This record gives sequence, C-alpha cells and structure tokens, in this order.
Amino acid sequence: MTMCATDLREIAENAGRELAGASALDVLRWADEQFGSTWCVTSSMADAVVPHLAAQVRPGVDVVFLDTGYHFAETIGTRDAVAATLPVTVRTVTPEQTVAEQDAAFGPRLFERNPDQCCALRKVAPLRRALDGYTAWASGLRRDEDAGRSDTRLVEWDARRSMVKLNPIAAWTQHDVDRYIAENGVLLNPLLFDGYGSIGCAPCTRRIKPGEDARAGRWAGTSKTECGIH
Ligand code: SF4
Repeated sequence: MTMCATDLREIAENAGRELAGASALDVLRWADEQFGSTWCVTSSMADAVVPHLAAQVRPGVDVVFLDTGYHFAETIGTRDAVAATLPVTVRTVTPEQTVAEQDAAFGPRLFERNPDQCCALRKVAPLRRALDGYTAWASGLRRDEDAGRSDTRLVEWDARRSMVKLNPIAAWTQHDVDRYIAENGVLLNPLLFDGYGSIGCAPCTRRIKPGEDARAGRWAGTSKTECGIH
C-alpha cells in the first residue's frame, strides 16, 4: 500500500506522541511493522549503536553511509568493520563531484570559505538522493548532544524530505550509550579513544579539550553546528 505524504505525516506525528517514552528497539519495531523494508539507518560511523539496534529488528537492514571524500581513514575502517561484522547492508553514497572536481569548480578548500555550501554539496544533496525510495530513516541523533537537538522526538515528520524520521536513541544520555556499547561489544571509531568527541569530516573536526562538549570539535571556531542533514 502506498501512503501519501499527508497520511505519513499523520502517522509520524501520532507516533511521536504515542511512542514518546518507548525504548529504542520499540521505536524501530514500530517502524518495521509500519514500513516493512522501506526504512533505513544512516550512520556517520562514529559508533555502530543504531546499526546494531536496527539489525536486531531487521537483519540485513540498509545502513547508509555518506562518504564525503573528506573522512578520516579510521571512519572508513569503521564502516568496513561494521559491514563485515553486523548483519546489515552498508550502502556507501558519494557526492556527484569528487573532491578534485569540486576544487576545480568552486576553488580549493571550500570547507574553509563556505562550509554550508560544501556540506550542501557533499552531504545534504547525496543524502537526499540516497533516501529516495525509503519511507522512513533512522539516525543516532540525541537530545543531550547539543542545545539545538534538545526537543528531538523519537519519531518525527521530516517535512523537507516528506519522510518519517526515527530518532530511536534521542532520549539516551552519553552514559546510556556507553553502557549499551559495553554490554553489547558495539564497534567504535578508534578516534573516540584519541581525543575526539564527535567525528565528521577531517578538515572540520578537531580533538576536544577536557570539559568541552562532545561536539565542540565540529566546525570549531565558526558558528556552524550542524551540516544541514537533520
Ligand atoms: S563537514 Fe566540512 S568537509 Fe565535510 S562536507 Fe561539511 S564543510 Fe565539507
């Protein structure tokens, strides 16, 4: 059965209320009952918590990874380890232009001069293409990561993409994440053991200092806090 955007929006908004206190697995089970195989996970490969949860609900679930061309080698290695060890289908998505082609078209180091445009070209547009054909997508967004994420619901309507957005671990604290990782032996990006609190593209990510928020190392020294995906 094909659902129109109005129906989907109503489903998402109702679920956002009804599943407000649900567990991460219950959110994903709900999505699986509603949408069958037409939901996927996106992962930055900082850790494999959401892919690990999703694989319990739908073995073989699609895990979309945006390869911007600017990732740390450790992030690519984490992606490959996730693909090799979890029952998921990793789909690597790339921008239309290679870094060299983007440099030729827009000049080198666009990430320094106009990071919003760089993210639009290398993250937002490829994700939009990658999500074509899915009804719902899940991410690892958490309320405690950033003030701008503090009102994130477990299920939301993604109006920009006319899709249902699942944030199964939105209510988790860092302590919850750490406990889940320890109890389940979940894969972690090794950079998390090397001073990084949050991991994005190499040119836009630095180590954090003691006492800083986990995301303080993303686009440090600028007012930018999000890539435009969420
Ligand atoms: S995070 Fe930086 S390098 Fe990556 S797409 Fe955005 S601006 Fe470009």
